Amino acid sequence: MVSQYLASRGISDKATLEAMRNVERHKMVPEAMREHAYEDRPLPIGNGQTISQPFMVAYMTQAIEPNPDMKVLEIGTGSGYQAAVLAEIVDKVYTIETVEDLAENARNKLNEMGYENIHFRIGDGYHGWEEHAPFDAIIVTAAPENIPPKLIEQLKTGGKMIIPVGPISSTQQLQLVEKRKDGKINTKNLFPVRFVPFTRRN
Ligand code: SAH
Repeated sequence: MVSQYLASRGISDKATLEAMRNVERHKMVPEAMREHAYEDRPLPIGNGQTISQPFMVAYMTQAIEPNPDMKVLEIGTGSGYQAAVLAEIVDKVYTIETVEDLAENARNKLNEMGYENIHFRIGDGYHGWEEHAPFDAIIVTAAPENIPPKLIEQLKTGGKMIIPVGPISSTQQLQLVEKRKDGKINTKNLFPVRFVPFTRRN
């Protein structure tokens, strides 16, 4: 999977490639989907949600320029795959999931797999995770129509956020947001993507 779908398509960050090699994706998909675990496509994980495509996980990981000192926030734990890939590289991962079942499953699985640097929260990621802010980087794996302001607030100066933004009904733009040292926010459109919607809790 790594050489066929990732290294050949522009994923070159060594730490990212190594993490993609280390995390056993077949452990994170439902039994019936196991034979497809190393194909480069999203797969259903129940509750109408999906485990992201390996290329997308690798791309988003590489985009934040991960290193061992970083504290990273993820919105949309889902299967826990992206969280595991991050946890292989960075110091601490904070991940929020709105669907309780998915959050519990991911927590159990990642604990079983031995990750001790992933912290879980059930709730609406719209508000970020104030207590542990600011974050060196933020990865959002569900698509809101606009960037939640709290997430920008909770990003460190010099930090990067990668997030799909756009309407639910069509494709979204994958955006790389940088909080510059002079306080300005730089937003770059990367390419069109299709993510599950970012839902709001009341
Ligand atoms: N990162 C996951 C991808 C999961 S798909 C993986 O690697 O497998 C996106 C997830 O975002 C879904 O599980 C969905 O329930 C969750 N989600 C959607 N809106 C959310 C919100 N407001 N806060 C937290 N999670 C949300």
